[in-house]
Amino acid sequence: MKYSKIEWTEATWNPSTGCNKVSAGCKNCYAETMAKRLKAMGAPGYENGFEFTLMPERLEMPFKIKKATKFFVNSMSDLFHERMPFDFLDKVFEVIRHTPQHSYQILTKREEILQDYCSSRMIPDNVWLGVSVESAKTKHRIDILRTIPARIRFLSVEPLIADVGTLDLKGIHWVIVGGESGAKARPMRPEWALNVQKQCDEQGIAFFFKQWGAWGEDGVKRSKKANGRIFLGREWNEEPAKESIL
Ligand code: SF4
Repeated sequence: MKYSKIEWTEATWNPSTGCNKVSAGCKNCYAETMAKRLKAMGAPGYENGFEFTLMPERLEMPFKIKKATKFFVNSMSDLFHERMPFDFLDKVFEVIRHTPQHSYQILTKREEILQDYCSSRMIPDNVWLGVSVESAKTKHRIDILRTIPARIRFLSVEPLIADVGTLDLKGIHWVIVGGESGAKARPMRPEWALNVQKQCDEQGIAFFFKQWGAWGEDGVKRSKKANGRIFLGREWNEEPAKESIL
């Protein structure tokens, strides 16, 4: 069952909400826009808008879903935010550990906190751990991710706002590429996406093309839906190799 509109997951689980910007990829943060909108609508959980807020009442949510589901954890925040207490993170990972029927995709731009947290803890086998790499300036996140013993490690190369150059994909199982959406979106040039796809192909890494976003392959701005997901003549929905997935 698909509960989320995000192309590469099935559902979202937000044990915290809110965040603040840490790198260029955050500039037009979708979560910030959504959080402000939800606050204006009076939606529960968004009383603080985009202020980082713990949501302990949401911790039990995955227990209520019996069917095996792929969750994106914290689509509206960053699980490794500076204000996230490690003892709350321990509770999140306890839920993950006790729901082995599900898999959990955790994506961060705070690789140093991730590394610090993982230095004294084991990551459960049903976790896919990822970092965002929006340009060459954030490639150092890959080197940190590689050191963490997670069963699946992935990169979200989204929004791709500049050429990432050469990528060392050793120890990486999955790469997602996508362009930015929204009124102020920055264009993703086709050659930047092609550079990533080629390197995934050469290094045998699963490649997922999420979307063009607001700017099409032809450099024309239109709706995200109209620009679609076709890249090099087809959809790219590859996932990590079956043996990596529980
Ligand atoms: S880290 Fe993610 S959620 Fe936080 S501001 Fe940046 S893009 Fe938004």
